[in-house]
Amino acid sequence: MSKLETSLIHEGEHFNTTNSVVSPIYQTSTYFADEDIASFAHAATAPKYPEFYHRHGNPTNSQVAAVIAKLEKTEDALVLATGMAAISTAILAVVQAGDHVVVQNAHYSAALIFMRDFLQQYGVEVTPVDQTDNAAFEKAIRSNTKLIYIETPSNPNLDITDLEFIGKLGKERGITTMIDNTFASPINQVPATYGIDVIVHSATKYLGGHSDLTAGAICGTKEFIDKAWRRSLVLGASLSPFDSWLLLRGLKTLSLRVRQINENTLSLAQWLSGHPLIQKVIYVGLPSHPQHTLAKKQMQGFTGMLCIEVAGADEQAQFARAQALLNGLKLFSNAVSLGGVESLIAHPASMWGASHTAEQRKKSGITAGLLRISVGIEHIDDLIADFEQALS
Ligand SMILES: *Cc1c(COP(=O)(O)O)cnc(C)c1O
Repeated sequence: MSKLETSLIHEGEHFNTTNSVVSPIYQTSTYFADEDIASFAHAATAPKYPEFYHRHGNPTNSQVAAVIAKLEKTEDALVLATGMAAISTAILAVVQAGDHVVVQNAHYSAALIFMRDFLQQYGVEVTPVDQTDNAAFEKAIRSNTKLIYIETPSNPNLDITDLEFIGKLGKERGITTMIDNTFASPINQVPATYGIDVIVHSATKYLGGHSDLTAGAICGTKEFIDKAWRRSLVLGASLSPFDSWLLLRGLKTLSLRVRQINENTLSLAQWLSGHPLIQKVIYVGLPSHPQHTLAKKQMQGFTGMLCIEVAGADEQAQFARAQALLNGLKLFSNAVSLGGVESLIAHPASMWGASHTAEQRKKSGITAGLLRISVGIEHIDDLIADFEQALS
């Protein structure tokens, strides 16, 4: 029973059948088949068979999936080309026309569009609820509810969903529970320990960790992963050999990176909380977060995701100050995405102007002065100094 840091380096090594210490990149679409027809038939139909045709599987994909399953404490995992491929494939492995899904008001924007627009077009009913209200989830359940889909901490407001409650609710009612665990990463939060059935990731973020690839992961029982794999065969979003190799490389330092990021972010959040031009700091690691106690119970660390709201007399003044801050910061680049070694900052109100109506933005607390920060592993003194100069 090896510890997490050891699993990050060694799990799934047996998928590398060469003598090279670092797994090679299997840059091939197809593989020589065995001469006998019975083994060919097995290769053609066995889930994730690593050496048949790339859409079916690839040795590095199998190795990466083994590492991620170990981290998430699930039986199995499947890696795909993006986080959205993982989310849509996993959901389509659960629901069909006539079913009902309970979701949150706040989700990653493309996931929200998938559920709000796509699923409904295909005859699946969707009810969004306030994730901070346990009773709202229970009340939304109908006889045809097949899935409860959650995300915690959620994007961008860092609200927390009660994992123990949702895990139990799903088990009691026989409803599949699924979580987007991207923001927390499995270093900080392991939803399977609370009975959540399926865990999805944008591996583009913390798991990859270097902003140089896109990937997604689905974790669950072997039975569920086999089913998701069958969906992925026809949906077709296989993870490319090179991105898979980069993901395997990135995962090796996941624990080191996330622990440093947790530490940096808490220090930065504390420093920003004392600054007169910052009227609000939203960080689940601060006692000022309304759900800090719940976060402390279900998370081992509080991630690198932090939101601040700059002060301003009105929307326009806030917008101008947010703009000035973005321009003044030198280490925090204005870019979307998160979870990399470099610090990033983004303005959610403009990022989601197209996908959220003004009312939806207001409901999710996305004001003109809100900025979302993904803290990296630069030295904390330099990160604080950068904010100090940009705010002065
Ligand atoms: C980025 C992200 C996604 C989508 O992942 P892609 O790799 O961009 O497809 C889903 N959920 C969360 C929380 C994310 O941050």
